[in-house]
Amino acid sequence: MHSFWWLLGVLHHVIWVATMLLTVQAMPPPPPIRCEASTGCNLSNSYGIWGDRKDCHVPSAAHPQTEEDLRLAVAFASKNKVKIKVVSKFSHTIPKLACPDMSFGDAMLISTANVNSTIEIDAANLAVTVDAGVGLRQLIDKVEEAGLSLVAAPYWEGVSVGGLISTGAHGSSWWGRGGAVHDHVIGLNLVVPANRSEGYAKILRLDSKDEIFKAAKVSLGLLGIISKVKLRLEAAFKRSITYNFTDDAQIEDIYMEHAKKYEFGDITWVSDAYLGQQENSVVVDFNYYRADDAWTPRFNEDVWEEVEQLAFFKHGAKPHWAKNRNAAFLDVQKKYPNFNKFLGVKRLLDPQNILSSEWSDEILFGKAGAKADGCALEGLCICSEDRHCSPVKGYYCQPGLIYKEARVCRYSSSSVESESDKTNLILD
Ligand SMILES: Cc1cc2nc3c(=O)[nH]c(=O)nc-3n(C[C@H](O)[C@H](O)[C@H](O)COP(=O)(O)OP(=O)(O)OC[C@H]3O[C@@H](n4cnc5c(N)ncnc54)[C@H](O)[C@@H]3O)c2cc1C
Repeated sequence: MHSFWWLLGVLHHVIWVATMLLTVQAMPPPPPIRCEASTGCNLSNSYGIWGDRKDCHVPSAAHPQTEEDLRLAVAFASKNKVKIKVVSKFSHTIPKLACPDMSFGDAMLISTANVNSTIEIDAANLAVTVDAGVGLRQLIDKVEEAGLSLVAAPYWEGVSVGGLISTGAHGSSWWGRGGAVHDHVIGLNLVVPANRSEGYAKILRLDSKDEIFKAAKVSLGLLGIISKVKLRLEAAFKRSITYNFTDDAQIEDIYMEHAKKYEFGDITWVSDAYLGQQENSVVVDFNYYRADDAWTPRFNEDVWEEVEQLAFFKHGAKPHWAKNRNAAFLDVQKKYPNFNKFLGVKRLLDPQNILSSEWSDEILFGKAGAKADGCALEGLCICSEDRHCSPVKGYYCQPGLIYKEARVCRYSSSSVESESDKTNLILD
């Protein structure tokens, strides 16, 4: 009898573990483009919500499979003056880069999710040529099978090759040519708008001999659609990782030594792309959560806003093109010595601005957006009036505590009391 209960207990445990294994599985995010015949398409990022909490509604979407399909899609847009944005299979970028400018008229999304059939390894020359829609995991596996390795990669494997280089994505390292993936790109094909005699779109095959190449590597999807990328490889290697827990006193001095001594450590290297990092850099990540209710500030709202403004405006830090809130991009143009060269290439390749978006118009071309109520809570502005914070929750626009030039949303309990007194008075 005893062994029966024991067996039943074991069986129950096995079934429970098997059920958990079957049910607890990592799920990829849903497709970022969802279309309905009657209403058109909605684009989201992999988090499911944009920083401004507004949908990105676009009338239509195309899902090409080949480079020629991509060329035809761009030709259609160029001929008919339709705004376009490229979107990858999962659309990981947090800022609204991939949402086309809808004030212009017609617009279309072009997905690279199905442009993913080719990965050609040239082992003799330590290079791989890959379709832009190929996912990073798929590429790493294929390259590894050939006994080779990418030189650099971001930490997240769900991104596409075209998307990751377009936003300057990086791993770490100051060694060799460094940890930004675009610094290991040795060639790429860019599908760009063209004039009527050229069929309204053409494929540029670029490498380091072309001046445009430096703009095309980190192009934020503003110059054309990357169809193929050629990356430098190296022999496969094993990475040895050591966790070293120390306190952060004098960390700013230790960084330098650490970066030189160890190959990987979230430290990036000078880039030759116009919109890549221009000096040896250390990456600092802050992750935070926003409430479902737009008027609820995040924890320690004022502290993190002040840290953000200290970093970006006092110390000149550069935002990650794919991650930061709009406020961090203020005057970003001045931080890139080759910014005007990038704009020159943009005018040359996309004279009708069909690849521009509201985000690029505001962030890169300085078209001022309206400062709406609560905009500082979302990082869409830096507050200059209380209404940019959350007066209803007791958060008012105040100077920074350490960096006095900062303007942050700070909680004041006395203001909440007086606000509620005022409310009571009105209600009474
Ligand atoms: C969980 C997570 C982890 C991350 N980890 C890292 C990290 O370790 N290091 C790092 O640097 N970054 C990291 N990122 C940021 C990420 O690398 C970028 O957001 C990257 O751009 C995502 O690639 P994607 O394929 O999803 O591109 P998307 O987000 O779809 O597109 C990015 C931009 O590139 C354009 N674009 C996409 N494909 C093409 C193309 N074929 N031709 C031209 N333009 C194109 C789009 O229009 C858009 O403007 C992370 C993001 C997430 C969500």
